[in-house]
Amino acid sequence: MCCCTWWPELKRRKAFAVDQQVEKILLQCTRPIGAYQIAERLPKVATTQVYRALERLIAKDRARRINARNRFVAISADTDLIAICSKCDEFQLLECPDFVSGLANLCDSRAFRIREICLEMAGTCRNCHNGE
Ligand SMILES: [Zn+2]
Repeated sequence: MCCCTWWPELKRRKAFAVDQQVEKILLQCTRPIGAYQIAERLPKVATTQVYRALERLIAKDRARRINARNRFVAISADTDLIAICSKCDEFQLLECPDFVSGLANLCDSRAFRIREICLEMAGTCRNCHNGE
């Protein structure tokens, strides 16, 4: 078999395997995690590969970048909003479709085209504000 046939297929399979490993780590984390921290847990994977895997997972709505922290979390397709504790970094994935459609209507009425909506809420989780 010619390398033109197997090489792209091999690269695609490797990328898929890295995506799976990265997603597994994200799913195990109860705190947002950085790309370098993910790479540290995958000794055979370079940080650039981790970044590419994260880009693919984000494109598939399986992960999201927490913009305020430059860290990543696993999400489901229904996640509209991420609430993050400012004290302990614990996060919750929230669904609020009414809020998102309200935003879309508001933007429609102002002729603003939405490219992406990244809803992040900072506050304190139950454990942290109980300790105050
Ligand atoms: Zn907390």
